[in-house]
Amino acid sequence: MIKKLAITGGTHGNELTGVYLVKKWKRYPELLKRRNFKTLCLHTNEQSIKEVRRYIDQDLNRSFKSRDLSDESLETHEAKLAKKLNALLGPKGSDTPNVDFIVDLHTTTANMGLSIVVSNESALTWKAIAYLCQMEPALKVYRWQGDEEGAFVDSMAPHGFAIEVGAVPQGVLRADLFLQTEALIYHLLDFFEKFNEGEHFTYDKRLEIYDHQKLVDYPRDSEGDITAMVHEKRQDKDFTLITSGEPIFLMLSGETVCYEGEPYYTIFINEAAYYEKGFAMCLAKKVQIEIEI
Ligand SMILES: [Zn+2]
Repeated sequence: MIKKLAITGGTHGNELTGVYLVKKWKRYPELLKRRNFKTLCLHTNEQSIKEVRRYIDQDLNRSFKSRDLSDESLETHEAKLAKKLNALLGPKGSDTPNVDFIVDLHTTTANMGLSIVVSNESALTWKAIAYLCQMEPALKVYRWQGDEEGAFVDSMAPHGFAIEVGAVPQGVLRADLFLQTEALIYHLLDFFEKFNEGEHFTYDKRLEIYDHQKLVDYPRDSEGDITAMVHEKRQDKDFTLITSGEPIFLMLSGETVCYEGEPYYTIFINEAAYYEKGFAMCLAKKVQIEIEI
């Protein structure tokens, strides 16, 4: 039984789908009302929303490691904000957290369509995702074990995930992606309403997901500046396979760099926010996992 769910938007202040969905739901709260649990919806980083920036001092969506949350010496805007949010929505790791489930709304400049990024795994989270995949067959699920584990906003609650939708530039609102994200949230709320009523779900126990394998950085010079861009044949090919010998980067010199290695699916291709993190795309394997029903 879940009692309280939180929908968070504006964790990255330049990802407007989540920012404006939260504004919409604050104006029309009845859209989120369900019979047997409460939904809280909030902006997580007001200052970065105001400045239409990803963050002020550091990435808020990497600021929820347990050790950082208990480190009083951390003084950045987001480190302090993470502690406040953890008091409101967590505390992380608690048996009696203030919310049971967090869904954090993001957008990406990569052509990922409607996707879910899972790092906070639980039986209930998977069950909810399986339901969403049934309702939205185009939905893709990416199990992330990327640059930093357990530091996402949704990690404050025992269950949850992030929604990523794209491609959309930073600071831009697109109606089609807005509507897709909104519809997915209503399916999620409907799922919990049915789950709380003890409904038996009959969907397939096997779920196809993309399992993170590794990160690929751009070719860079000795100063760390990139010396290539994503190759035009790889651009926008999110959730498609790359095999040895296929073009991956185009050097400033005009030379094509080909991928060498095991065949993997490419995800988050050319995400604007990841230039500074040092990766051009993620590589994943397609796997089937079994869900407890
Ligand atoms: Zn984001």
